[in-house]
Amino acid sequence: METSKIYLDYASTTPCDKDVVAEMVPYFGEQFGNPNSIHDYGQIALEALTNSRIQIKNLINSEFDEIVFTSGSTESNNIAIIRSMQYLKTTNKNRFITLKTEHKSVLDCADYLNRFGFETTLLDVKNDGTLEFSYLEENLNEQTGLVSICFVNNETGVAQDIKKISKICCDKNILLHIDATQAFGKIPIDVKDLDIDFLSASGHKIYGPKGIGVLFGKKQSQKFIRVPRANPEVEFGIRSGTIPVPLCVGLGKAAEIAQNEMSSNINKIKALKKQLIEGIFSQLDEVYINGSSENNYPGIINISFRGCEGEALMMEANRIAVSSGSACTSNKLSVSHVLAAMGIPSDIAQSSLRITIGKYTESLDIDIAIEDLVAATNKLRLMSPIWDMIKSGIDIEKVFQRRSS
Ligand code: PMP
Repeated sequence: METSKIYLDYASTTPCDKDVVAEMVPYFGEQFGNPNSIHDYGQIALEALTNSRIQIKNLINSEFDEIVFTSGSTESNNIAIIRSMQYLKTTNKNRFITLKTEHKSVLDCADYLNRFGFETTLLDVKNDGTLEFSYLEENLNEQTGLVSICFVNNETGVAQDIKKISKICCDKNILLHIDATQAFGKIPIDVKDLDIDFLSASGHKIYGPKGIGVLFGKKQSQKFIRVPRANPEVEFGIRSGTIPVPLCVGLGKAAEIAQNEMSSNINKIKALKKQLIEGIFSQLDEVYINGSSENNYPGIINISFRGCEGEALMMEANRIAVSSGSACTSNKLSVSHVLAAMGIPSDIAQSSLRITIGKYTESLDIDIAIEDLVAATNKLRLMSPIWDMIKSGIDIEKVFQRRSS
């Protein structure tokens, strides 16, 4: 199937940069060695792997031996959360804290821990999606072992103040894991300055290949996630198995490019976001941006078009590829758990679209997106009984509450 749609779903995945592909190709062919082998084939692969680890550690200012290759953020989240909690339980710290707005892969870890006798707490966020620091502090106690927070939310782009959160955790001697999937390579991250224990990231969100990610593990905290009796020579005893060298090379190159392009990409994306918002808001009423207007990554924009279902909008605005809710849950017609946790009224949450801008987006793409979204909204509103109710002043939230009770 071919598509000529304008891609505005960069938070879901990104196309591989052609320079990344070129860098990977030799390692699928003549340079096919296993980095654990001591002959030349192995040593060439090891050199490539070393280079890739350096490119990644440079991006986040970690040490070389703090970068562990995984299959992606889901696996990194799993290792950081489940393994460290299993370790911490042996020291009588069996409480895990995260936010209600986390990615499903983190919420699944919380579910798993719950099922196996750990105490898990999912914290509420403020209406703008950011965390109330005093609320976090109140919820930390002697039994708390680990806090896990998403740096940039995948549905709203809301960015948490990791430095403040880290200070709170450090003061109480609690480990901190950051799901940085949507922040890695897009906004500056300095793990030393942030003073965090673990960080997860995926290659395919930064124009690298799919199926590869990293778990940063601070040296002093690696003992919490190391596999007992694992070979310390392979991924520092944290992850075993044969390393996919071509994918690691691709991720390293993607990290290097991301570091070089970061400030120009962010400036371009900020300007495109401004264009999108001004274009939509100047032509439609009853549209809302969900999430903080100050603390956010500008490439992820969550907009509600009141009176329209998000899914219907997606179908109608058919020159653009966007998401309603997050891609991982968009096959379900339920209200996004992120928007619900932010206290967004159901009718507004259901009318939301996630539009994500990337480095290949151009101003002309945004013009087309505005044109399609405005036309689609106007068309759907003409047919929408909900829009009629809104216009005649009926409290639509009460109607929704009755419908779901
Ligand atoms: N965390 C966040 C915030 C994400 O956006 C994603 C991907 N949507 C993941 C974790 C999981 O990443 P992956 O699918 O690459 O394992």
